[in-house]
Amino acid sequence: MRVDLVTIFPEFFRGPLDFGILRRARQSGLVDVNVHDLRDYTHDKHRTVDDRPFGGGEGMVLKPEPIFECLERLGMTPAQAELERGTPALRARGESKESVILLSAQGRRLDQALAAELAQLDRMVLICGRYEGVDERVSEHLADREVSIGDYVLSGGELGAAVILDVVTRLIPGAVGNEASTRQESFTAGAEEIGDSGPSSTCGSGGLLDYPHYTRPADFRGMTVPEVLVNGNHEEIRRWRRRSALEKTMRNRPDLIDATALSEDDRELLAEIEGQRSVQRK
Ligand code: SAH
Repeated sequence: MRVDLVTIFPEFFRGPLDFGILRRARQSGLVDVNVHDLRDYTHDKHRTVDDRPFGGGEGMVLKPEPIFECLERLGMTPAQAELERGTPALRARGESKESVILLSAQGRRLDQALAAELAQLDRMVLICGRYEGVDERVSEHLADREVSIGDYVLSGGELGAAVILDVVTRLIPGAVGNEASTRQESFTAGAEEIGDSGPSSTCGSGGLLDYPHYTRPADFRGMTVPEVLVNGNHEEIRRWRRRSALEKTMRNRPDLIDATALSEDDRELLAEIEGQRSVQRK
């Protein structure tokens, strides 16, 4: 996948791109990340990228010209895309293999499902806003979607772009050493595809939060790991993990339980957990 980051702070990406999975994916050519300095697309002495808002009000707004020029250089304006690769309407419907994304608090909220959708792309351009935001014509005429990384306001799109790049990269086949691991994490549906080749791969999340993980030592300063995990009974381990995932999801994210397809077994476990809770409350 080719990724273009459009920003007024190109140096910002020095850290996030250089570690772990992202670094390896870049080195092996799975993702090709290019950072573009918006100021390179200005023509005045001060390399101005912002201006005051029409209609008055606080702060400054990122001007449209440098952003359009940058995207023109990349061959990623709707007109160019239409000419060479199909219409922007096609892009918006998700049938195209490329997307121009504006980072915005007003965008569709990023989740694992959107990340999986973006991981199918061949090319992704991420436009990072600053100040009060970006001239709306960028969202209207240049980007095919706006994405938010959560319900809060960042001071710039760079952190958001880094988050998108991270979650998308680890879903590209080959980026994570053990592919089964990305299919059984928190929020990930489709656990049933994993098969049952042992306890590490039989307890998929299926849309729930991940189950707790432990490693050696089994006894650390008197804090011991759950007995069931060291006794080697795969079926018991699977059940314990599913139960723990259900328990944690109920406690921290009950909204996810409603969205998860629960099995008969899950319902029994939930009833058990509920029963235990009501005993504890008494
Ligand atoms: N006035 C805007 C916030 C501007 S913050 C508003 O109220 O919605 C400046 C820039 O930071 C934005 O243009 C956007 O690119 C980025 N940004 C802020 N919050 C974000 C979020 N939750 N997700 C993604 N990008 C965000």
